[in-house]
Amino acid sequence: MKLKRKIAEFTGKNKGPLFLCVAGMHGNEHAGIKAIELMQMMLEVEPITNPEFEFNGRFVGMVGNVKASKKDVRFLVKDINRQWNYQNLDRIFHTPEKDLDPEDQEVKELWVAVNMEIQAYQPELLVFLDLHTTSAYGGIYSITPEDPESIQVAQAITAPVVRGLLEGVSGTTLHFFNTKNLGVKTISICFESGQHAEALSINRAIAAIVSCMKAVGSVKSSDVENQHDNILSEYSTNLPKVTKVVYHHPITSADEFVMKPGYTNFQPIKKSEHLADDKRGKVLSPMDGRILMPLYQKLGSDGFFIVQDC
Ligand SMILES: [Zn+2]
Repeated sequence: MKLKRKIAEFTGKNKGPLFLCVAGMHGNEHAGIKAIELMQMMLEVEPITNPEFEFNGRFVGMVGNVKASKKDVRFLVKDINRQWNYQNLDRIFHTPEKDLDPEDQEVKELWVAVNMEIQAYQPELLVFLDLHTTSAYGGIYSITPEDPESIQVAQAITAPVVRGLLEGVSGTTLHFFNTKNLGVKTISICFESGQHAEALSINRAIAAIVSCMKAVGSVKSSDVENQHDNILSEYSTNLPKVTKVVYHHPITSADEFVMKPGYTNFQPIKKSEHLADDKRGKVLSPMDGRILMPLYQKLGSDGFFIVQDC
């Protein structure tokens, strides 16, 4: 598969936010990459059918982990969505290229590419949207850092906002791609658009991009068809608006963790419910709530999360 780091760019006539969309941070998640490619085509043809159409700012689409995406695996050596902290970047930038593992190289290249875009466009606002999919079905949602602006824009996407997810993990893009580290006012959102292989995960990712673009003024609401909102609201009908993570079940490969089949995102669960098995025996739910991201793939360091409605 031919795949580059930068897969889309579109600059409007008017200055506005730098809208940076990254997908394939996990190499087995292709829906976001497709969504970015289609978004680029939509932006290019829109002025033909709608001469009034104006785009404010610049849209850039990038692949997070190019090497893993080419091989359709989550990662080759380690998860690049756990590598984002100063200490690690410092190590990577002070290590000779030949001694870097594939994911170190990806982190380095992505960080350089993002900063070059900021330098070149000099935006007043950077919107960073990180597109993912999950191994489980049923449920789309966004994750944000705890800053009010990011939460506000995330709420414009008609899907549950999951809060507190970043407390249990470290080194994600949402921990690091912020105003302080990028030197420009930054809004960061991660959007999970459905199961990896579902065709609709692509449509939902496009709808999320469009919703965010409307919320930050890249495009006018009157220029955007309602179908995008409908795709998300239909899917979110029975899902809570805001939820908070109350439990995280981290795992290592030595645990031999196997999730019981059939769980879907946001499915209600009861205390003591038999959720999974590992080498110690049954893994029971410690509380009532809803299950999120039950692991149905080989690679991953999170068995599942439990969220409760806010
Ligand atoms: Zn992912």
